[in-house]
Amino acid sequence: MSDVNVVWHEHTVSHQERVTLKKQQPVVLWFTGLSGSGKSTIANAVERLLLDNGKHSYLLDGDNVRHGLNKDLGFSDSERVENIRRIGEVSKLFVDAGNIVLTAFISPFRTDRSQVRDILGEDQFIEVFVDTPLEVCESRDPKGLYKKARAGEIKHFTGIDSAYEAPLSPELHVKTDGITVEQCAKLVLDYLDAKGYLR
Ligand code: ADP
Repeated sequence: MSDVNVVWHEHTVSHQERVTLKKQQPVVLWFTGLSGSGKSTIANAVERLLLDNGKHSYLLDGDNVRHGLNKDLGFSDSERVENIRRIGEVSKLFVDAGNIVLTAFISPFRTDRSQVRDILGEDQFIEVFVDTPLEVCESRDPKGLYKKARAGEIKHFTGIDSAYEAPLSPELHVKTDGITVEQCAKLVLDYLDAKGYLR
């Protein structure tokens, strides 16, 4: 609920001053894909490359956010929507602070991702589709979640009994099957470099 008496305050230190100090264009790299597709692994590898290049970043990871900020939310459709909305708003604050933000959430619904795009604006939102076939994700099963979902121990599991809506026109489409994590991370870094985000 918005309150007409709550007003956005301009900071004494401006966004542009923070950007100049950090020598980069703040942006959100929004990784989306099935569980086990490689979002977290690739985002971690990209963040390592960024840090090694003297860039300021922060990774918002699915499980960590659900332990704290969003621990009151479950996995129903409406709670998934609220989960993503809050992450979008937090990302916006990190971007305002001048950071390159990486987010690793399944974020299965197109409308939610497009809502975050609207919160950030076109120049500050890069959708990275981590495209790994369900069978490959299921064979990797890094957290044993597919096994539990198939056994009916987890309900509303994306790809099994809850939908994943693949991006229609992501800025970056990374097909992980058959290439290494490092190659995937390099694709992302090359994109940032080519688009001038690292200057
Ligand atoms: P997600 O964050 O999408 O749920 P994770 O990053 O936790 O997925 O797990 C992906 C798993 O797949 C990891 O065990 C990782 O080592 C493995 N993997 C194999 N090849 C790749 C690749 N090219 N890119 C990303 N992950 C890969």
